[in-house]
Amino acid sequence: MSRIAYVNGRYVPQSHAMVNVEDRGYQFADGVYEVIAVLDGRLVDGEPHFDRLDRSLAGLRIDPPCTRRVLRLILDQVTRRNRISEGFVYLQITRGVAPRNHAFPARATAPALVVTASRRGPPSPAAVERGVTVVSVPETRWARPDLKTVSLLPNVLAKQQALDADAYEAWFVDPDGRVTEGSSTNAWIVLDGQEIVTRPLGQDILAGITRQTLIAVARASNMRVTERAFSVAEAKSAREAFITSTTSFVMPVVAIDGAPVGAGRPGPVTLRLLDAYRRHLASGGSD
Ligand code: PLP
Repeated sequence: MSRIAYVNGRYVPQSHAMVNVEDRGYQFADGVYEVIAVLDGRLVDGEPHFDRLDRSLAGLRIDPPCTRRVLRLILDQVTRRNRISEGFVYLQITRGVAPRNHAFPARATAPALVVTASRRGPPSPAAVERGVTVVSVPETRWARPDLKTVSLLPNVLAKQQALDADAYEAWFVDPDGRVTEGSSTNAWIVLDGQEIVTRPLGQDILAGITRQTLIAVARASNMRVTERAFSVAEAKSAREAFITSTTSFVMPVVAIDGAPVGAGRPGPVTLRLLDAYRRHLASGGSD
């Protein structure tokens, strides 16, 4: 079955899905995106994703292309037309098409909306059992990583640097030596006394929806979560470490810069959090 994409008002075979060469997303990375999980054919935690999308659009001063209700209908159609029961939808909104010029187009252009979907399950039990490794890299991104823009070049380069070092993820480190987040994940450690630590929200990290959900889920299970920055050294000497994202769920980190974290295998607190997160998803998420 060929995949179906939505492009500016039309559902088309993905192999024929095209955007104009003067789309500002293509020319300037002048756009934003979201990745939302689908379970049983329904969006998981749709509302928080749409709230973050609105913040990203406002940060770039791009008008929403449609109402939230219509956007939901489009995402639903793409999910159905691709017969996705379990997977992810990707949506991207750019400032639209205009003759190439850095300044916003003088005459308002219609924002461009593209939606695709992919079938993919959660990380396998074997992958969780193995865990992943990370390398630390200097923070090279702009000053607003809280906006989920398609301008991801530092993230792309950092991820490749990780793969070249036989690692899975790169953790960005700010000039004070503290971890901001991964190239496409939020970063966490677990300290003695089972204290779970992750960097507080601000303009320097993306407000991960998995992060938000996990904090709520952990606190509901009477687990202690502290939102504060931590250094790479602290992470290396932590009991456990893990990363979170819509596609990675809760993934144990077993080594940082080649040094094992804790016992060098997935820790009990991380696995308990993954379990609690899975139960949250199975219950349909927050909407
Ligand atoms: N941080 C960055 C830089 C990301 O790109 C992502 C997801 O793509 C995340 C964190 C995790 O966000 P979420 O949990 O909403 O997928």
